[in-house]
Amino acid sequence: MDLILFGPPGAGKGTQAHRLSKLLGIPSISTGDLMRAERAGESDLGKKFDSYMSQGLLVPDTLVVELLEGRLGRADAAGGAIFDGYPRTLPQALALDELLASADRAIQHVVSIDIELDEMLERITGRRACQATGQIFHLRYNPPPADFQGTLVQRPDDTEAVVRKRYEEYTRKTAPLKEHYGDRGLLRAVDGVGALDQVAARIRTAIGWTSGCRGGPAV
Ligand code: AMP
Repeated sequence: MDLILFGPPGAGKGTQAHRLSKLLGIPSISTGDLMRAERAGESDLGKKFDSYMSQGLLVPDTLVVELLEGRLGRADAAGGAIFDGYPRTLPQALALDELLASADRAIQHVVSIDIELDEMLERITGRRACQATGQIFHLRYNPPPADFQGTLVQRPDDTEAVVRKRYEEYTRKTAPLKEHYGDRGLLRAVDGVGALDQVAARIRTAIGWTSGCRGGPAV
């Protein structure tokens, strides 16, 4: 199965993609994570990504599509994938359609996780990661345990000014993709507000997944 988790920054796409990945036995592919890995390696490509990411701007399509193509070509993605944070523009969506079609595959579900700007700002600006393990916490909703010894760091693009820019990019360039998938009857919207388990259950319903039964259209 190939499916897209769609939604503004902070909607919970990454968390839900990891859960779904375990449930469905297919990898979750996050172009944001792939870019952060390049940045951490301080490659030339990583430096290029950094100049866009640190300002909350979308990375140009040609670079993103190349990155995605490389990841999709790996063996673990041969039977399907969950796309998290990709596509973010129409050219990216068209490139994905083509890449999948060349392997006789197609997107089966697009789940849009919806949240409002205020909720998103609160979630993202309170997000912190353990520097050593990468484990994600939230200062208010999911604080580290009392005996936590590590150092908490904030993603450089999680500051309020950059998050507002990311949201603007989402609204202007990414949200219009809903029409691309809606016209094909693939789009389902779920409320992204609530406990992780609740949102996960809404997503499973949206893709028509019931215990032991994968796929199927949502009813
Ligand atoms: P994310 O981790 O998905 O929130 O992405 C973090 C940042 O990486 C975004 O604000 C963009 O600068 C960049 N990025 C990630 N995925 C894409 C994409 N599909 N297209 C363009 N830029 C992207």
